[in-house]
Amino acid sequence: MEKIKSPIRIELSLGIMFQSVNCYLVPGKVLTLIDCGLDSEENWQTFQKKLNENGYQVADIKQVIITHEHIDHIGLLPRILEKSEATIRIPKMIEGWFSRPTEMKEAYLQFKKKLLSNLGFPKDIEQQAIRFIEEGRSYKKVDDLHRFETFEEGDILHFGNTQWEALNTPGHCPTQFVFLQKKQKRIFSGDMLLPIAPMPIVTEDPNNPDQPIRALKELQLSFERLKKYQIQQVYPGHGLEFTDANSIIEKQQARMQMRKNECYGAIKNGHQTPYEINRAMYPYQMMPPDFSGLYMVLGYLDLLEEEGRIQKETINNTWTYKWRKL
Ligand SMILES: [Zn+2]
Repeated sequence: MEKIKSPIRIELSLGIMFQSVNCYLVPGKVLTLIDCGLDSEENWQTFQKKLNENGYQVADIKQVIITHEHIDHIGLLPRILEKSEATIRIPKMIEGWFSRPTEMKEAYLQFKKKLLSNLGFPKDIEQQAIRFIEEGRSYKKVDDLHRFETFEEGDILHFGNTQWEALNTPGHCPTQFVFLQKKQKRIFSGDMLLPIAPMPIVTEDPNNPDQPIRALKELQLSFERLKKYQIQQVYPGHGLEFTDANSIIEKQQARMQMRKNECYGAIKNGHQTPYEINRAMYPYQMMPPDFSGLYMVLGYLDLLEEEGRIQKETINNTWTYKWRKL
């Protein structure tokens, strides 16, 4: 059996202090790159330097595999397409972001606007939030679509002289894929498993158009799915590689459980709308730019509603939650 080499982690800047994103160079017969960072001149230089240090050039990359379509995971792709002949493998679910990006972004914006209008934001902050989302980076149409190949749940990918199974693990986003070796208990986890709990971003439900996805619920289901594999080696999309995935997942789940109960407490104390509950639970967060607490609140509300501990009512287009005594 050919020896399996360790992936080389390349850490790139997110342009925000101390925050970074990983891509992984995986040596083997087919030199493979998993994800490709956020686009910037600085990151492009860092990326090439790191390749050179390991004896490679961009032109040596034969295959790029993408875990999900977020801008911090596909940023350098156009530059890599130009400087190499690599085949690009992407989840079939994200094809539209490359073939018709304007349409995709427009639909995304429309949904976000509609969602924000339900959450009880003061009008001025809602406007700021909309502007912030509109100004977010746009995706460019890719001319080299013939170099793209797609994969789906259960497909086998080949890199590092070995085989990996592609699993769709929604939660961070519906399109999140991880690459798993069941026997060796290793995983490239994208933003599904991270040293710090992943953000359950609320977007339109691909299976239920116009409805928000229950992102935190999905994340919990994906956690349970991955726990069964007792994964020992994790190559995450952000932060350092780690071992013993289950202990990290269980810590994150315990914290979410605690915060969900605090959310229930906030509703008992009279905070009714997602905005009000967010302000009570995450008073230190600036929104925009930081919507992470809002996504957590929406996730906790879904779970509490499902447990019958709160009741949702839409009043003048605003989601309003009432505490229920059990
Ligand atoms: Zn990410």
